[in-house]
Amino acid sequence: MERILRGIMRYRVLDRSSMVKQFQQVKDNPVPKAVFYTCMDSRMIPTRFTETSVGDMFVVRNAGNLIPHSQHFVDEMTSCEPAALELGCIINDIRHIIVCGHSDCKAMNLLYKLKSKEESNTEQRRMSPLRSWLCNHGQTSLDKFIAMDGDFSKPMLFTAETPQTKFVAYIDPENKFSTEDKLSQVNTLQQLQNIASYGMLKSRLQKHELHIHALWFDIFTGDIYYFSRRAKTFVVIDESTYETILAEVTRYYS
Ligand SMILES: [Zn+2]
Repeated sequence: MERILRGIMRYRVLDRSSMVKQFQQVKDNPVPKAVFYTCMDSRMIPTRFTETSVGDMFVVRNAGNLIPHSQHFVDEMTSCEPAALELGCIINDIRHIIVCGHSDCKAMNLLYKLKSKEESNTEQRRMSPLRSWLCNHGQTSLDKFIAMDGDFSKPMLFTAETPQTKFVAYIDPENKFSTEDKLSQVNTLQQLQNIASYGMLKSRLQKHELHIHALWFDIFTGDIYYFSRRAKTFVVIDESTYETILAEVTRYYS
């Protein structure tokens, strides 16, 4: 807590006045550009690695960057993730949703362990909200991952904006990442389908007024990858790929 209080004192001196000016600028004309879902991991600081600021993004964070499928939204029992979709994409008419996974994700490492029945039995889940959260909302990612049987040279098929919009993905074709990191990439792509499961987004998605993207952050190198549907894999965003990725985004998603 001391660290936090010291930080607040520094903020008062260094950033407060410029931030208040920015708040005033966006107050009457906010144009947020994306709803950004990512993991709650303390190493993930999305506004820093995207250099975004006041008014730019709605950020939603949880363990494992999961967005529950709409089938879990029954009788008004819901979680904050779909509520954020409504606030962002319906009420504020934001046109882009981004899901950003990352390497060495503790939630994904635990999800990987939960493939063993002893680790994911009812008793365990009852005692652990984290296990319960991951089992309920990460199971489809885990099932897809297990179905690959360790052979990631095979293509995977995911659904995006509409049930007809399918895309192929090759996970970690250079085999650079750990097994758990491969699961994290599968899980990040699976969330696109979960987002699209909400009826409130259907017409926007069908009319291409709303777009869903996947990013993946490598904690060890600081590199950020964009999932390119054209390249069918996560492509690092750097000086050599930026123009191609931008062209893809502009062509398909603007
Ligand atoms: Zn994480």
